Amino acid sequence: MRMYDIVIRGGTVIDPEGGLVTVANVAARDGVIVRVTREEIPPCESAEFIDATGKVVSPGFIDIHAHVDGYEYSARCMALQGVTTTIGGNCGISPFPIGAFLDEIDAKGFPINQGMFVGHSFMLREKVGAVNRYAPATRDQIAQMCDLAEQALSEGALGISFGLEYSPGTSWEEIVRLARVAARYGKLVAVHARADGWGGPGAFREAIRITEETGAPLQVSHVAYMVGMGMMAEGLSVLDDAVERGLDVTADSGLYHAFATFVGSAVFDDWPQKYGASFEDLTIATGSHAGARCDRDLFYRLREEEPEAVVVAFVGREDEIPQALSRPYMMVSSDGGVGSPKPGTGHPQDAGTFPKLFSRYVREEGRLTLLEAVRRVTALPAKRLGLVTKGTIRPGADADIVVFDPKRIKDRSDYPGFGVPDVPPDGIEYVVVNGVLVVDRGHIVEGARPGRSVRRQNSIWEYPPDDSTRPF
Ligand SMILES: [Zn+2]
Repeated sequence: MRMYDIVIRGGTVIDPEGGLVTVANVAARDGVIVRVTREEIPPCESAEFIDATGKVVSPGFIDIHAHVDGYEYSARCMALQGVTTTIGGNCGISPFPIGAFLDEIDAKGFPINQGMFVGHSFMLREKVGAVNRYAPATRDQIAQMCDLAEQALSEGALGISFGLEYSPGTSWEEIVRLARVAARYGKLVAVHARADGWGGPGAFREAIRITEETGAPLQVSHVAYMVGMGMMAEGLSVLDDAVERGLDVTADSGLYHAFATFVGSAVFDDWPQKYGASFEDLTIATGSHAGARCDRDLFYRLREEEPEAVVVAFVGREDEIPQALSRPYMMVSSDGGVGSPKPGTGHPQDAGTFPKLFSRYVREEGRLTLLEAVRRVTALPAKRLGLVTKGTIRPGADADIVVFDPKRIKDRSDYPGFGVPDVPPDGIEYVVVNGVLVVDRGHIVEGARPGRSVRRQNSIWEYPPDDSTRPF
């Protein structure tokens, strides 16, 4: 008799919530984990039966900072690297209304689960006509943005995101009034800080003032891309100080030293002086010149004619990434999917971030234990987002699971011009989303769309919070 939809047998189950690393069988039914046991489960009792002997059975990875945002191809790349839940609407870039966007995910299905922030710097500003990125919004526009943000949160958005570097004119008033809306419900404010490079540590200080002034829980976004250009120690000391003072601050970082964003954005207003770089330090990642090395002519032409093209900027220092990882409040995020890359284009983070964490920083360099690395990409982001049924393997949790080979796991994607940005990794063998296989022996299961929207209801923040988002 079939009692289960899927059974994963004999793997090393890792549950960072309970500090558990042990061999067990995991069984799921109707999208939910129903048993974690050492009792043998006969194959005939399950529709799908996976032998995971010698493999790691981890909660599916939760990517707290990405730009997949409903784009199918990027979601497939994410599934292939073990991500079962992607959080979008970051850096101030989101669709609107959030409720309709999430309804469509549920109606059509999606390879993985999708949660959203509502984005200030592009979307809310555009909605209220604050389109000059170098000018502050008016009082009226701020009031309207607060109403729209409130609507998005009530429709299930997980927080409000800012991309302050993209809208340098954003006033403090604008930030604080919006952050108060998120604070009211204990929902996250995710901040792509106002400046990177030399200005990064100071911009982190501004971000921390948001939580000091409003109480909103703060997520400092993609740390390596803001201060991993020689300022990592200074940037981290700003965050350390906030955490030590007990402020509600966490952060995430990618594992690559070259960031990717739109060539027409304000980030490149004073390129290349800002970084002491050259035009040739840019590679084109998406659009009609994908794969090309930049030069002065192409840079100005793209800024004019194809501002949405994504470029990769080689201005960071790879040796600073382990410093970011050394902080217990640091989640690992991909920033993947930016610019909705076509197959064969994009940034290696789109396909390689999570395997790279386990191959390079756990197996090869021993910077993190396996349990701690799993925690940073499962329990920690789940708790931070208030997703109580995710990031854990225990009865009652959502059946979002990744099975990988700790000896073989390895990213294979590389920067455009150096390799293929979206080549899938080795060693991610099975990925289960809501109890359904989406990756089987390392390959996408065509047509599998068990992913659902991830929403969180509004409830007014009270102390102690009923579903604390505090990770510590
Ligand atoms: Zn960003």
